[in-house]
Amino acid sequence: MRSYYIAGNWKMHKTRSEAAELAKALVAQLKDGKHKYLVAPTFTSLETVGAIVKGSNILLGAQNCAPEEQGAHTGEVSVLQLKDLGVETVILGHSERRHIYKEEDELINKKVKLALKYGFEVILCVGELLEEREAGKAEAVCESQTVKGLAGVALADLARVTIAYEPVWAIGTGKTATPEDADAIHAYIRKVVGKLYGADAAANIIIQYGGSVKPENAAQLMAKENIDGALVGGAALKADTFVPIAKFG
Ligand code: PEP
Repeated sequence: MRSYYIAGNWKMHKTRSEAAELAKALVAQLKDGKHKYLVAPTFTSLETVGAIVKGSNILLGAQNCAPEEQGAHTGEVSVLQLKDLGVETVILGHSERRHIYKEEDELINKKVKLALKYGFEVILCVGELLEEREAGKAEAVCESQTVKGLAGVALADLARVTIAYEPVWAIGTGKTATPEDADAIHAYIRKVVGKLYGADAAANIIIQYGGSVKPENAAQLMAKENIDGALVGGAALKADTFVPIAKFG
């Protein structure tokens, strides 16, 4: 049985004191929350936020990791360092990593396998650009990113993978996919997972929706059969907007 999973990606926002303030508010206001929760602050706030969410029902996530364990990789952060900070989950393949920083599927797959090898959970983001949707390629793009992102991942490790469907045209734009459109792509991704790993894996994998999720649209999205939660950007930056999403319904 799948459970709802609501994650907040704080992107490159917040100083440590601002991050601490938000984390404290979330710990207090989500303590009676019924779902699975995660916050992913910037690397510089991981230790601060980690100390606050420790022992709560909120997991600590990182927004990226290096594709190698350690070594001469200026500017990168390794899985070993994330483990050391108590990080439990890594978000990989976010559209900003794919499109601004030109991360290809092969690199993302390397990171996915490394993060899983070190015991992390992974949120693998997939999603099409507006021109790809308009060209009728949304399913093909999501299939390709899912298949390539999961290449070489064993069935036993899939339980630690969540997929986030994030249509790039809906991220930070205020445009949300309709619940029906999102559900159709989620169903398609689930079918792709089924082809790769079988029916049980397809039925059990959590597929979050991301793209301008707000308190006003969360419940309608979450009501759809194949939408199992949300990866939230802008609305995750304030307790006033994240908490109602996290406690939708
Ligand atoms: C995101 O970046 O993962 C995201 C979904 O952002 P927003 O909620 O701001 O669209």
